[in-house]
Amino acid sequence: MIETEKNSKILRKRSKKIDEVTDEVKDLVLKMEKVMDQEEGIGLAAPQIGELKRIILVREGDQSDCFINPIILEKSKEKDLLEEGCLSCPGISVEIERPVEIRIRATNLDGEEFESEIEGLKARVFQHETDHLDGILITDYISLLSKIKKFLRIK
Ligand SMILES: [Zn+2]
Repeated sequence: MIETEKNSKILRKRSKKIDEVTDEVKDLVLKMEKVMDQEEGIGLAAPQIGELKRIILVREGDQSDCFINPIILEKSKEKDLLEEGCLSCPGISVEIERPVEIRIRATNLDGEEFESEIEGLKARVFQHETDHLDGILITDYISLLSKIKKFLRIK
């Protein structure tokens, strides 16, 4: 059900903008919520279930927020480093440095555009899922140095 780096080319493609929040879009969001629950993920992007559409989900506690056509408008200078996993890259975790606070714009399920400021884990998940819409995966953040070290088997 989940597209993975090993078996899917879809994950490397750029997702398309949603022109209108139709019933079809709403159905897709419901499907995404179901998959995210099943997989116990804290976020999900539409291409992970094979749909090249710019839709992401971010979970915060019991609530899951849907962002359609998400854009990052501003990023804080302050960054932190945290290990991230991905349902599409099973068994892999990568330390990634990301801004701790971001200002974003997106469309909600009512078709209304909004802006908001998010921080902490939610901001990190938002950035991770937005990466998916541009075909970027956590493995792209593995530094060249650590790739060489791994290749040469040095620690
Ligand atoms: Zn992911």
